[in-house]
Amino acid sequence: MTTERDASPELATGDLIFIGPPGVGKGTQAKALVQDSGWVHLSTGDLFRDQVRRHTELGRLAKSYLDRGEYVPDEVTVSIVRERLRDIPRSTRIAFDGFPRTVAQAEALDALLREFGRRVGTVILLEAPRDELLARLSGRAQAEGRADDTPEVVAKRLAVYEEQTRPVISHYERRGLVRKVNGAGPVSQITERLRDAVERSS
Ligand code: ADP
Repeated sequence: MTTERDASPELATGDLIFIGPPGVGKGTQAKALVQDSGWVHLSTGDLFRDQVRRHTELGRLAKSYLDRGEYVPDEVTVSIVRERLRDIPRSTRIAFDGFPRTVAQAEALDALLREFGRRVGTVILLEAPRDELLARLSGRAQAEGRADDTPEVVAKRLAVYEEQTRPVISHYERRGLVRKVNGAGPVSQITERLRDAVERSS
């Protein structure tokens, strides 16, 4: 069935996707970028942590994966994103943070965006040396007490990233959408690099 959304020839200005290893600062930078811009920051990690705090059934399920540093199953993750997308007007740009993290999620997102009359504009690949990631994550473990920032779980998350998320970069590189941004150094300097990369590509 063709819906009204499918029928419209006009696509919204492209959305932004942040990809990068745990600890690289995707969340911090996505928040900085959307501030005052009217964009929506959509972090699947935040959505899951919110469910955990509210002790929902989905939260209980998600927690068992989060605590081990593993990915929540794709169908659960895609459905939570789908629900969130319903509330966001097509004219509002989205900064996806931590989604998609697997090739299956990237394919599901392509279909979802088509369904909602949206498209991917730019994929920001934030990278930093492993030593810097480890230092930041151990700092965050002390400051925020996130259960998934312990050394064992961090090692697992980095391994899962290499195995499952690296291939997502190629998925978008083939379409010429990836912009690499150096995620090492002071937060404000990284935000500047990021703004530059986004402006140059939109
Ligand atoms: P980080 O980028 O530092 O790992 P996030 O807050 O983005 O932190 O994610 C925390 C955890 O939430 C992940 O380790 C994973 O268990 C779960 N999660 C977040 N996004 C996804 C996703 N797209 N698919 C599956 N699991 C996810």
